[in-house]
Amino acid sequence: MDSADRAKPPGGQSSVDLLVVGGGIMGLWATLKAGRRGLKTLLIDERSLAGGASGGLLGALMSHTPDKWNEKKQFQFDALLQLEDEVVRLEAETGLAAGYRRCGRLIPLPKDHLRPIALRYELDAKDRWRQTSRSFEWAVGDAGDIAGWPDAGFTKAGIVHDTFAARVSPRRLAAMLVSAIGRAASVSVREDIGLEKLDPVAGFAELTDGERLSFGHVIVAAGHRSFPLLGAGRGLEKPLGQPVKGQAALIKADIDPDWPLLYLDGLYIVPHDDGTVAIGSTSENSFGDPLSTDEQLDALIASARQLAPVLADGLVVKRWAGLRPKAIGRDPMIGPDPEKPRIVALTGGFKVSFGLAHKLADAALDAVEGRAFAVPESFRFESHLDLCSRKT
Ligand SMILES: Cc1cc2nc3c(=O)[nH]c(=O)nc-3n(C[C@H](O)[C@H](O)[C@H](O)COP(=O)(O)OP(=O)(O)OC[C@H]3O[C@@H](n4cnc5c(N)ncnc54)[C@H](O)[C@@H]3O)c2cc1C
Repeated sequence: MDSADRAKPPGGQSSVDLLVVGGGIMGLWATLKAGRRGLKTLLIDERSLAGGASGGLLGALMSHTPDKWNEKKQFQFDALLQLEDEVVRLEAETGLAAGYRRCGRLIPLPKDHLRPIALRYELDAKDRWRQTSRSFEWAVGDAGDIAGWPDAGFTKAGIVHDTFAARVSPRRLAAMLVSAIGRAASVSVREDIGLEKLDPVAGFAELTDGERLSFGHVIVAAGHRSFPLLGAGRGLEKPLGQPVKGQAALIKADIDPDWPLLYLDGLYIVPHDDGTVAIGSTSENSFGDPLSTDEQLDALIASARQLAPVLADGLVVKRWAGLRPKAIGRDPMIGPDPEKPRIVALTGGFKVSFGLAHKLADAALDAVEGRAFAVPESFRFESHLDLCSRKT
């Protein structure tokens, strides 16, 4: 029997405990963890799994800076630490690799005024970047340990070595999640099927193939498409969120994949296990074709080659663009709809979804199961609704 048919009783209307709409990194984690909780779950994607923003190239896993600590920074720190164990477990379950490594990060300090700020962060990290037996550093030095990584011209005021940052291959992690989901007995998956209509009071969904499905809860993890879905019919003054286009590239490079990632002014250079280095990303609020790449990516690649001259002759093997889901408050948007509690939001990860999605999925599923769900106040669906300043 095809896994798609498992949710459909012979001759009857399908019925699930949980419908997950969208198979990006958010929906994949939610589906996997729903399966682990024994919930009868259907994951639908109107295109292919991980075919949206989550099918990207970069995979940087970086913490917020260690200053001005708050519950949001702590949540992200805990999530980034926990991801390590999640990946180990999944690799053991599936026999696949996610290309995960706690590689650390180098941040060059090109201008004098940046050094005292970085030194303050060094002290903050001693206090904040720790958990039981583990601690991480934001260490300020005069020069990097690896010649040319980054180019010395960028380190006039020194360099920061952040030992907490990590990286993962987005596509390999997604493939691993899909493989693990395929083993879960209570879970079905349907690609090329979208959500057409929801009746959250009666608990019915209409799918794009015309099927009517009854559900206990729906997790809306449709990336940037979640915002119109969740905002529909509310009379909001502002949309719940927007897509922000990003472009990235992969360059072939003969470097040690253990090298730390480089970060400067929004430019990420991320070595991966397969002999490639990912370069990202543009951040475009207005754009024509959401999936094309252009001269903005060329400029980014040129900047990367200046920062890391070892990439100067590296062949660009892939160019890619996607739409990040940015919620109105910039933070993720998680939790039950206050007016329609069968609907649970799981979106808005913007630039940091890969480090948070597993923990956010746990919170969303706690909400589905009627438990208290632990996320920072600014992540909650209600907080985002407030920012949209409802008319009524
Ligand atoms: C260039 C670039 C670089 C990035 N770099 C990083 C990085 O280094 N680290 C990091 O953590 N994050 C990064 N991000 C952000 C990250 O990729 C996104 O935040 C994340 O992928 C969003 O995941 P998602 O599951 O919310 O949405 P998506 O991956 O977009 O998935 C949503 C899914 O929902 C489906 N869908 C939509 N509407 C419907 C419907 N009506 N019915 C059924 N299915 C539907 C879509 O087909 C899609 O598959 C980057 C993003 C870009 C664009």
